[in-house]
Amino acid sequence: MRPDILNPLFAETATLDGVGPKLQKPLDKLGLVRVKDVAYHLPERFVTRRPVENLDAASEGEQIVVALTPTEHRAPRSGRGPYRVLAQDAVGNICALTYFGRASYTAKKQLPVGEKRWLAGRLDRYGDMLQIVHPDHVSEEGGDALGQLCEPVYALSEGLTQPKVASLVEQALTRLPELPEWIEPGQFARQKWPAWADALKLAHAGEHASARDRLAYDELLANSLALMLVRADNRRRRGQPLQGDGGLRAKLQLPFPLTGAQKRSISEIEGDLAQEAPMLRLLQGDVGAGKTVVALEAMLIAVEAGSQAALLAPTEILARQHFETLRAMAQPTGVEIALLTGRDKGRARESILMGLMDGSIDIVVGTHAIFQESVSYRDLALVVIDEQHRFGVAQRLQLAGKGRRTPHTLAMTATPIPRTLTLAQYGEMDVSRLDEMPPGRQAIDTRVVAQERLQDVIEAVGRHIAGGQQAYWVCPMVREHESEDIAAAEARYAALRERFGETVVLVHGQLKPELKDAAMERFARGEAKLLVATTVIEVGVDVPAATLMVIEQAERFGLAQLHQLRGRVGRGSEKSTCLLLRGDALSETGRERLALMRETQDGFRLAEEDLRLRGGGELLGTRQSGDTPFRVATLEQIQRLLPLAHDDARLLMERDGGLEGERGAAARVLLYLFERDWGVQLLRGG
Ligand code: ADP
Ligand code: MG
Repeated sequence: MRPDILNPLFAETATLDGVGPKLQKPLDKLGLVRVKDVAYHLPERFVTRRPVENLDAASEGEQIVVALTPTEHRAPRSGRGPYRVLAQDAVGNICALTYFGRASYTAKKQLPVGEKRWLAGRLDRYGDMLQIVHPDHVSEEGGDALGQLCEPVYALSEGLTQPKVASLVEQALTRLPELPEWIEPGQFARQKWPAWADALKLAHAGEHASARDRLAYDELLANSLALMLVRADNRRRRGQPLQGDGGLRAKLQLPFPLTGAQKRSISEIEGDLAQEAPMLRLLQGDVGAGKTVVALEAMLIAVEAGSQAALLAPTEILARQHFETLRAMAQPTGVEIALLTGRDKGRARESILMGLMDGSIDIVVGTHAIFQESVSYRDLALVVIDEQHRFGVAQRLQLAGKGRRTPHTLAMTATPIPRTLTLAQYGEMDVSRLDEMPPGRQAIDTRVVAQERLQDVIEAVGRHIAGGQQAYWVCPMVREHESEDIAAAEARYAALRERFGETVVLVHGQLKPELKDAAMERFARGEAKLLVATTVIEVGVDVPAATLMVIEQAERFGLAQLHQLRGRVGRGSEKSTCLLLRGDALSETGRERLALMRETQDGFRLAEEDLRLRGGGELLGTRQSGDTPFRVATLEQIQRLLPLAHDDARLLMERDGGLEGERGAAARVLLYLFERDWGVQLLRGG
């Protein structure tokens, strides 16, 4: 049970003043579900603005406060275009105030034509025109007051404004309870960190590095502790030693010899499976490295030993693909493989459930539906989890097996992460790496091209698809407002479609699922030749081996992400090309990073280098989403503070009596606060 002291923090955001049904969606989108989430929604940066008499006194890119008088409202011509208000400063300069999506309602209310207003925001340029996108403040008076503030800038979603988020944060901060200190006293004193509640308040008030560090440390400590609890629990558990006689594996008629890395991984897995302690192993390998056949061999060992195996995929499409591949590969062995997803209903489902219960099905492939309570197995001894970078899933699954023997677990991932992060993300799992690609794959010819050469690039795409081949065009999701990103992708799509016609299709996150599926399918069938997409192309889904990829504003992506995107081309034996369009946000490190993409196709090396290059120069709070299981700690903080947190956790476990005792009680609070409480539950259950 969660300690009562945390209750005010776990109250839903709906309990905050001013949160009605309208705000719920934008808040959910940012993951702000509970009061603690709001308290931990730390500013991305801070701004201090300069009051100016008129726009001549300001430079582009500057944060300013200026008095403007609206002269005209312009509604968008197309559905997704922005809403613009034209406004005039004291000397007659015209500036466009630009609003995307629903924010236009606010604009209509706040900016009546002919009435002077003070506006705070960042001045930039749109074509020939000065503009301010989503002004942070619009007020009827007080230029100086607006200018003095050192103000936090929060990540927003559509429907939220900076003042709104700031007011919610303010409320959340008044609800902070006094929590016991969980950091080891020596460490706490050495670092001169503020206490927990003070740290949160400071982190919202200004650039207080020490407060930020403390909060990051808390998160890392919670994580390390939970992982240690899992590992300790795992050691206590009984699994089932699996020894295969090789009979089924011998019947596989693979059309290729296994690579050295595959053989090594299989024998590591075989060694683990033979033990009584349940396996907890991660198989890492780039897209195309050949993880599937390793998984199959592992599952065949379980079947040879008279047990069952399950393969868990993150999406239904992926489950289906795995099922088809495995069934084809395993056909000569005669093992019974079934597919089970949430979509299966009625008779078909019943018959699979029966087969799992009576053991006539040897291997089941599916989504999390395969672990619902209604599904029982005769003897499930191995679980393979594909592409779960969401932290802790492997561990949580162990809870599912409670009361019976714990299945062996093999997690597979194509996400290249640096060694330092492997520990944070996968805890103390053992790791097998497929660091050798199957032979016959061509290197992808990667080139960096300046954005100014866009026309040449479009011509090159034209020649490519005219020759009957397929291509991807990737638009990044990087701006402050999602709708701006979508607008950019749609504009690019419209332009490409005008040029190339029906053969161009579009896929992005806000598209209705039917439309998205239809577009993907036209591309998969080869009817469409050019797929324009935001970065949502699902990891792992097999799409046709397109041989050209264009990535816009490539400098804004992390290298690991670029690498994964690039992995979508060059999957066949033909030669492939990846064009990285370099936009305007290029710093020195940005240049060096893109050059690396040209140099190597090794995902692990890219991940390491990316961390090295970004580590030091990282901006306050900017993170590559999806890279780590952390909300607070940045990459730089992970590198610097994780070793300390790890030692601290070990001390607590080994010297200070684990979760018993006084510090242990504080540590429990910490685990619940960061929702790593499955660690606590394990302890209780075990
Ligand atoms: P991953 O899941 O790691 O991205 P897959 O298991 O889908 O990769 O394998 C990619 C492709 O490589 C498949 O077509 C597979 O049949 C092939 N493959 C796997 N291992 C080898 C090998 N040792 N030699 C040649 N081809 C292989
Ligand atoms: Mg795969």
